[in-house]
Amino acid sequence: MSSLFAPLSAAEIADLVHWRRCLHQEPELSLEEYDTQAWLLATLNALGALGVRKVGGTGLALHFGRGETDRTLLLRADMDALPIDEQTGLDFASRRPGYMHACGHDGHMACLLAVTRRLIAHGHEIAGHVVVAFQPGEEGGRGAVKMIEDGLLDGRWLDGRGPKVDAAYGLHLWSPLPVGVVSCAPGPTMAAVDDFTVVVRGRGGHGALPHTADDAIVAAAHVVVALQSIASRRADPLEPVVVTIGSFHGGSAFNVIAEEVVLRGTARSYGKAVGESLPKWLTQIAKSTAEAHGATAEVEYQRYTVALRNDPEMADRIARVAKATPGVTSVDRTLRMMAGEDMAFFLEAVPGCYFFVGCGGPHAEPHHSPRFLVDEAALTVGSDVMLNAVAEFFGE
Ligand SMILES: [Zn+2]
Ligand SMILES: [Zn+2]
Repeated sequence: MSSLFAPLSAAEIADLVHWRRCLHQEPELSLEEYDTQAWLLATLNALGALGVRKVGGTGLALHFGRGETDRTLLLRADMDALPIDEQTGLDFASRRPGYMHACGHDGHMACLLAVTRRLIAHGHEIAGHVVVAFQPGEEGGRGAVKMIEDGLLDGRWLDGRGPKVDAAYGLHLWSPLPVGVVSCAPGPTMAAVDDFTVVVRGRGGHGALPHTADDAIVAAAHVVVALQSIASRRADPLEPVVVTIGSFHGGSAFNVIAEEVVLRGTARSYGKAVGESLPKWLTQIAKSTAEAHGATAEVEYQRYTVALRNDPEMADRIARVAKATPGVTSVDRTLRMMAGEDMAFFLEAVPGCYFFVGCGGPHAEPHHSPRFLVDEAALTVGSDVMLNAVAEFFGE
């Protein structure tokens, strides 16, 4: 290991792959990452890390640098897995039936460990500060918010003596992109995530006498269709919006008119104004459509995560760094999607970039699939880009 920022050596790559496989075998759900936290802590300690703290419940944070300047960069990896029964047939497949690292977060932790190992040996060469964070609960656990509440960004996590974070980087392995492609679009790249429940109430009755009842199923079916007009008729056509009903439950028998239907769904958006309008539009349409069919609608609406916005200058820095990283064959500046990501909470607080690292092999499967695979060559690309990004940030 010659310097802080040289590409990973063959021995380091072997450890990187080994770490990812260890983590892959022991997946844990959001905010239940106790064994993952313990494994990371033991591995970091074995690598010689000092002062690792538990932050955000099952998360970890540590800190490097001489602190001659205040410039502080946060590096973040998420830790959680999903309630999916793995079907990859890999010899290092999940040992926990019903749980799987099917989003690549095992790889994110391994990459950040490889970067952290360099910081353990060479962190004193950095004039400012680097805060390394292993974040729990990305898949719906709001783990980023928990870490922020524990003071990760303002220094409270280190008894008030921690540096104040002023920039952040993170990466996501991305199987739709082949290995060698890195993507860092400027501006919003991932959506704000809202979730909602609509309870449609009618008046039950005999299936053969619909005129004596108010059919909640017919009313709810109209509500589902009417909600699709939010994206097509209410939102500015230049603003991406998705409204999806993911579950529709009601009724008990073939000859009984249902009294109640419960709809659950999600809405996605990028823009602040359009996002703030969504609860109002959805409630208005659900209530008045239900009423038009003799029923009522009660709406519960939660804004879950904010949209993820890459700071244009920080995204440009990642693009420059990635182009100069061996193993990177092309840099994409356009990839955007309506999936959500709670790295968004860090990037709402400080400028930064969350970039995608292609991990799709010849048999690429989508994220969250029970057959999801990571081409492990992507782990080296991700680690090397991250190391170079740290170097560039501190002007090395
Ligand atoms: Zn995921
Ligand atoms: Zn993910």
